[in-house]
Amino acid sequence: MTDIKSLFPQELAMLLTAEGENAYRASQIFQWLHKKGAGSFDVMTDLPLPLRNKLAERFFIPSVTPVRKLVSSRDGTVKFLFEMHDGEKIESVVMRYAHGNTVCISTQAGCRMGCSFCASTVNGLKRNLLPSEMIGQVQAAQEHTGLKISNIVLMGIGEPLDNYDNVIKFLRLVNHKKGMNIGLRHISLSTCGLADRIDRLASEGLPVTLSVSLHAPGDDIRTRIMPVARRWDMDTLLESCRRYEKTTGRRISFEYAMIKGVNDTSECANRLGRRLAGTLCHVNLIPVNEVKGKIYKRSEKNTIETFTKVLQSYRITVTVRRSLGGDINASCGQLRAGHV
Ligand code: SAH
Repeated sequence: MTDIKSLFPQELAMLLTAEGENAYRASQIFQWLHKKGAGSFDVMTDLPLPLRNKLAERFFIPSVTPVRKLVSSRDGTVKFLFEMHDGEKIESVVMRYAHGNTVCISTQAGCRMGCSFCASTVNGLKRNLLPSEMIGQVQAAQEHTGLKISNIVLMGIGEPLDNYDNVIKFLRLVNHKKGMNIGLRHISLSTCGLADRIDRLASEGLPVTLSVSLHAPGDDIRTRIMPVARRWDMDTLLESCRRYEKTTGRRISFEYAMIKGVNDTSECANRLGRRLAGTLCHVNLIPVNEVKGKIYKRSEKNTIETFTKVLQSYRITVTVRRSLGGDINASCGQLRAGHV
């Protein structure tokens, strides 16, 4: 059976006309699935019953069902554990910011990138998520919080560029005028640094914000904590980032998890500053979330302050990520880890 919710209206129209149906039905069905979030064909009451029955025989609508919902009493952050049609579980987080409600979605069930500080990678990759399952997370987040979502970050479980085609299709679907119609400039994609895919992404003509998880000032430290650094060294990665910035005109955001005694000295800050000086970018320092079973501790507050000042002396914009949902295990993969 074909996943009907991962099809563009034109693709669906072709399938329907081949069956002797009218092409305009495709647009109706697309709106039911994407704008109204229909979970079954039964509710599509403006379609003739025989067509609804035919659809139910040929197609399925992948479900995204909440099995747990945790609400932070500190800041209202909501974390969902969702179950997919085949029983796989993933997480999404809804955060309320001044600039709008943001949902952080997963792109894979599990992850095979192996970053040593990350909870998502502990049991490896189970499977890629379908475009419809990424749409479903945004819709379910809206439905079960009652909040209108205006921003999306692809920073949940998984490596978006390791599920490239499905992620690109998701971006085009979620942006579709007849669907959710969320602006691409309101979407950020985070990658651990698959340099060749960053180049490919630059050629897609999708003005999303790119975040790159750097976490180290050079290959010596980076290869120790991120296996992906052995495939693409930092020079190659930074070249791709600069090309991305040139092609799209968009400033890149570098994520840097501050890990005590690993990557947080002022020598590290100076090395990083020298490397990034002159690149149109932004560095986001994230005090590392301590994950069960991992030895890493977050850097001290004054270490983070010193690190920030050193980077600023290279005229680099730096922010320190405000940690939301600390009381509900809101960071990457922590909730799913207890359910696999
Ligand atoms: N695979 C993508 C997106 C998912 S992770 C990527 O690597 O960018 C989103 C961000 O959270 C990444 O920057 C990741 O390195 C970071 N992260 C993972 N585990 C973390 C932890 N324990 N503490 C702080 N940040 C973490």
